Amino acid sequence: MPELDLYFESNTLLRAVAPMLGIVPAFFRLAVRTGKPKTAYYWPDDPNWSDFPFPAHDGVVYVFCGDGLASRAAGGALHLRAAVKVMKGERASPELVALRIWHELLHAVGQPADDMIPRAEEWLPPEGLAAFRAERARRRSVDTNYWQQQFYHWLTVRAIREETA
Ligand SMILES: [Zn+2]
Repeated sequence: MPELDLYFESNTLLRAVAPMLGIVPAFFRLAVRTGKPKTAYYWPDDPNWSDFPFPAHDGVVYVFCGDGLASRAAGGALHLRAAVKVMKGERASPELVALRIWHELLHAVGQPADDMIPRAEEWLPPEGLAAFRAERARRRSVDTNYWQQQFYHWLTVRAIREETA
């Protein structure tokens, strides 16, 4: 089980997200802290990442307020490291933020968190797959908390299996 220090830049941010943090499975052993860990800018010339603060050390996740930053990315991960940007307006959507944290945690343990659509046949049971395809056929976004949560559960079980294999 990956053990990670989960830093929230401020108490305000922690308080906003805390009610939904429980949706992240206990497989991720998170020690919640407030403050700023040591960070680094790895791609200063890339508009997605220019001033995006990645934790400088393994085992650290950093959740920060993104207002005023130039970098476009909402989240990023390296092996056992992740950073998640939260805009002020997103504090009112703690489930969305908790899912974003879960998404980056999955990347941090090597899971294909961006592959919800190409892997739909693998992670959805037949009834779910029919509903998922119907949404796509109606051109509705499947980038919703409802689908993401199911996909992330499947990926977490996959990560557990890979760890114990
Ligand atoms: Zn991703």
